[in-house]
Amino acid sequence: MGDPNCLFCRIAAGEIPAEVVAESETALAFRDIDPKAPVHVLVIPREHVRSVDAAEDGHRGLLGDVLLLARDVARAEGIAPGGFRTVLNSGDDGGQVVQHLHAHVLGGRRLEWPPG
Ligand code: AMP
Ligand code: ZN
Repeated sequence: MGDPNCLFCRIAAGEIPAEVVAESETALAFRDIDPKAPVHVLVIPREHVRSVDAAEDGHRGLLGDVLLLARDVARAEGIAPGGFRTVLNSGDDGGQVVQHLHAHVLGGRRLEWPPG
């Protein structure tokens, strides 16, 4: 199911190390290697889906699972009470660099709005 050329598929397969903080049957959460906030965790579906734009109606459950694991991460990291941000970049203009759908969970400081 994994794409051997995809960095996050390889992390999901355990081929590339990552600091995993939470996981479910369908999703995995690990710390971003270049954190942009005191808490910066990425949540991915185990299945390779390129982006929100590439998601299909059949991915409804998978997308829900990603957001619910993001919720669990925010609670476990202690940032849920103060507030946090969940971001899914899609495509070039959206700032997507890794072509495997992922939600950033950011918190632990006051985040600016709007983003740059
Ligand atoms: P995006 O720009 O939305 O595609 O975000 C990709 C994110 O993946 C960036 O925040 C990177 O710092 C992060 N990243 C890249 N390689 C790794 C890695 N090996 N382990 C953890 N995070 C990574
Ligand atoms: Zn992938």
